Amino acid sequence: MRDVELYRSLLGLTAPWTVAGVEVDMKGQRVVVRVEPGPGPYLCPECGTAGPRYDRKPRRWRHLDTMQFTTWIEADVPRLECARHGVKQLRVPWAEPGSQFTTLFERLAIDLLRECSITGAVGLLRISWDEGWGIKARAVKRGLARRGAEVVGRLGVDEKAIAKRHRYLTIVADLEQSRVLYLADDRKQESLDGFWPTLTPAQRDGITAVAMDMWEPYGQSTRAHLPAADGKIVFDKFHVVKHLHDAVDHVRRGEHRALRRAGDERLTGSKYLWLRRPEDMTDAQRAAFRARPTRGSQGRPGLGPQRTVPHLLGVPVPWCRQVVLHPVVLAGDPQPPQAHRGRCQAHQAALAEPADLPAPSSDQRRPRGRQRRHPSA
Ligand SMILES: [Zn+2]
Repeated sequence: MRDVELYRSLLGLTAPWTVAGVEVDMKGQRVVVRVEPGPGPYLCPECGTAGPRYDRKPRRWRHLDTMQFTTWIEADVPRLECARHGVKQLRVPWAEPGSQFTTLFERLAIDLLRECSITGAVGLLRISWDEGWGIKARAVKRGLARRGAEVVGRLGVDEKAIAKRHRYLTIVADLEQSRVLYLADDRKQESLDGFWPTLTPAQRDGITAVAMDMWEPYGQSTRAHLPAADGKIVFDKFHVVKHLHDAVDHVRRGEHRALRRAGDERLTGSKYLWLRRPEDMTDAQRAAFRARPTRGSQGRPGLGPQRTVPHLLGVPVPWCRQVVLHPVVLAGDPQPPQAHRGRCQAHQAALAEPADLPAPSSDQRRPRGRQRRHPSA
């Protein structure tokens, strides 16, 4: 079988398309398959009416590799002039309009993207990060177009940093079936506002929970569009834990400074002890932990009576920042929350404005239950 016939069979081409030639570039490890559209006449992609050729446009698509060789399809694609629709490009059977990859290549890419990160997939596919992101975005768009009117009870709203954190996307996902329901640019209130009108009244009434981080614009949008939203907003456990860690560590550092001034080194090297699960402590660590100060020194807020962050996680869902975090920050504080807030503006600002905190990196966003354990200090 000649290479031209071999590739005609492999590509599954139908009339009017034929393989005109195959070039193998040994040095560049590349195979280029030249495909011809035949003499015409051609059919309008909108109405199927035959029309005369208007001109032709050179195009190329990346196809599945031939052995270790990257493989490309090249063709001069005719444009025809339809009396009803004007000048239209002939649709090619191996790729979607506008894509620079064949459908089979995109299918392989999507399978890989499901299994690994974009960086991992683009390395295996030998394409750029932007090309990998484009394939993923087109797949999501096709999925969104297929979205029906079924009720989704549990939603997740999250932001995704792209372009090295210069750009953000807002993503609404169906948490029960792990699929994307909505995408929008940026992470403003308006970004999420666009989602709610896409729901039918029955879909809106059927929402029982919306999981999100503590990003206020998402909360504001949800409250503005979802009835009884405060009873349905669920803060993501990862973010609650992160705020707890930051709050406990902030108080520990303050205490440590004050104690050191008095020559007391009891808190030296204790950072991770406060973040550790009590059941994971060794006997020596447990004894050392009990010996730490539990009340604030000189009227300052302390770290609380033998409470670590994991101790404090047995609080009911839905999480509420005011309810959950105040007892943590103020554990051992003899004064009411209002007084503490006045005394420790920087700390309260850090709690109230999660936007100011560094966004978690992708490897920090682990599923619940798989948070990285800190080594004992
Ligand atoms: Zn037409």
